Amino acid sequence: MIPLRDITPSRTAPVLNETDGNWGKHKPQLKNDFNSHCGYCHSYDGYKHTYFEVDHFVPKSVIIKNGWDIPSARYNNLVYSCKFCNNKKLSKWTTNSHIVYNDGTTGFVDPCDASYDTLFYRTTDGAIRPDANSDLAKWMYKVAFKFDERERAIIVLWNMNRLRQIIDGLIVELNTYGIGSTDYNTIKLKLGEYALKYYIFHKELIEFYEQ
Ligand SMILES: [Zn+2]
Repeated sequence: MIPLRDITPSRTAPVLNETDGNWGKHKPQLKNDFNSHCGYCHSYDGYKHTYFEVDHFVPKSVIIKNGWDIPSARYNNLVYSCKFCNNKKLSKWTTNSHIVYNDGTTGFVDPCDASYDTLFYRTTDGAIRPDANSDLAKWMYKVAFKFDERERAIIVLWNMNRLRQIIDGLIVELNTYGIGSTDYNTIKLKLGEYALKYYIFHKELIEFYEQ
């Protein structure tokens, strides 16, 4: 079983003011803390396929409606999120508390919590699946984020990111061998195969988002 993500994000202490209402200014720190990946679907932000945004984990509208004391720039409540996840999540919140994130069946888990990784896994081609034994995971998958509705894009993005890392590693390795040596040529050949696969996925991504 392939894990949803290879690294669990972790929020560092906020470097900027949390009380001036300007949550957007935290974006660079948030991007760094989330390792340039969406907190929810773990897609990488480097392909310019969409905008990455600052999501409020407890939605702003829910905070206002309930009069909860959470400033809109409170760093702990922010998630680096792709536009798709942010747009699907919107003002969904299923508990009547800002410290209880879910009731075991509906609601959310903070993506900075390591238990977020237990909710989902990936198929061998990179699609996201909920843990079959978790109603909460199924609710997040189907109702909150609708991962199934954009499965192909999730697969393409995951494969591109995996190939990018392999290609980067091979380039480093390639440069340790003399040009024209047997090892050099072997790695160059492999590099060509992976680069071609990457290119095909990239082409699909561009066409997918041009529609
Ligand atoms: Zn996402």
